[in-house]
Amino acid sequence: MPETPDRLATYRSRRDPSITTEPAAEPPTDSGDGPIFVVQEHHASSLHWDLRLEHHGVLVSWAVPKGLPPAPGVERLAVHTEDHPLSYAHFEGEIPAGEYGGGWVRITDTGPVTITSWTESSVEFTLEGSVLAGRHLLHRGRGEKPGHWALRRRDPPTDPDYEPMPAELAPMLAVTGKPPSTPGWTYEVKWDGYRALAQIIGGRVRLSSRSGKDITASAPGLAALGDALAGHEVLLDGELVTFGPDGRPDFGLLQQRMGAPARSRARTKGRGQATVTYLIFDLLHLDGRSCLRLPHAERRQLLEALELSGPAWAVPGQLAGTVSEVMDAVRAQGLEGVMAKRSTSVYQPGCRSEQWRKLVNLRKQDVVIGGWQTGEGRRADGIGSLLLGVRGDDDALRYVGNVGTGFTERALGELHAMLEPLRRKDSPFSGAVPTARARTARWVAPELVGEVEFATWTGDGMLRQPRWRGLKDD
Ligand code: MN
Repeated sequence: MPETPDRLATYRSRRDPSITTEPAAEPPTDSGDGPIFVVQEHHASSLHWDLRLEHHGVLVSWAVPKGLPPAPGVERLAVHTEDHPLSYAHFEGEIPAGEYGGGWVRITDTGPVTITSWTESSVEFTLEGSVLAGRHLLHRGRGEKPGHWALRRRDPPTDPDYEPMPAELAPMLAVTGKPPSTPGWTYEVKWDGYRALAQIIGGRVRLSSRSGKDITASAPGLAALGDALAGHEVLLDGELVTFGPDGRPDFGLLQQRMGAPARSRARTKGRGQATVTYLIFDLLHLDGRSCLRLPHAERRQLLEALELSGPAWAVPGQLAGTVSEVMDAVRAQGLEGVMAKRSTSVYQPGCRSEQWRKLVNLRKQDVVIGGWQTGEGRRADGIGSLLLGVRGDDDALRYVGNVGTGFTERALGELHAMLEPLRRKDSPFSGAVPTARARTARWVAPELVGEVEFATWTGDGMLRQPRWRGLKDD
């Protein structure tokens, strides 16, 4: 590279030395014992790692959004940025918000570098740091956007056992029922939400559903989990939940959050709208090591050592006690149930395993809507509760009670709009409906099917403590 008269002009023009604590743009100098490199983790508006190589008295610099490639075969984008003064290799700290590159900077590693070749379009070098080592190639591809280079590793990683993150993985599933009768099981709350795997590479989070669909956009609060795990490669397993005003997971609210387009999510954000929280319960991959073959107890230890806790994520603790004690505790809190996991069990992707068991408190039931009753107060014009029926073997629709909880205001509005066109004069139920109910009921054709959860059947065949879960898709 030909030397220009002032290689630090751009560096200088972007910084106000009276505001930033970054090193001044002193004249190009020589570090003495041969060239050095530095990699700095930079939490600017977009997280990246700055790779800087000493060349002709300055630090020639690239911003690498996902960090240095961990293994050969992995190519990372590197965006060429302005030359930095040599003293920048020691810089750590906070660049004031609003300034160029505002955010904090931490040195990942620094040390000697051997430059084997340096041309206009490629730089081949070997890092000799304490963390970062090995031969690398920076290459400017033809036809790429200006400033876009590719960074590749040339020799095998220093870690010969490095395993890449699996691209696709289906979560392990549990069987229902059968409380364990042997020792060696651990218990967790069974959360009522959406199962999701979170892959974190280079500070970027990718969330995928049970079926492998990318659902990253539905939980924007989780982007910060990437910053929290910057510098790690991690695959997490957990449940996305939304907590209702009563502090319990509310599946209806979650559906509303996950289903809403990004624009309406942004609009409702500031209005105390519940956010999506990721409750993490397993660790499947950590920094070039698969954890799948480790026993569950060891995976939990590794997970807990990551100390993940943030505004939109947590690692809930395990429950202490016997199976009946933990079931009682969970029931008392009104939670759905308990997950029992065998401490020695390995993770079997996509497998419904006897080693994981869900012990559910609440039962679920498909119900047919046969009518509604108006509510009181805010619900006076709309639905206060739904009259529910269950079809018997003879196809007769038997009234099984009313459900008046578990709805969001929005769900009630939508139901009202769907039920109004189904209005009819007479009861769709075969058999009697209690007079007090029948007198004020608005009957509908029995076409809509939903799901309730409930504690138990009463002696006379009614749902006890039913709670609305939502309409069935079909
Ligand atoms: Mn930077």
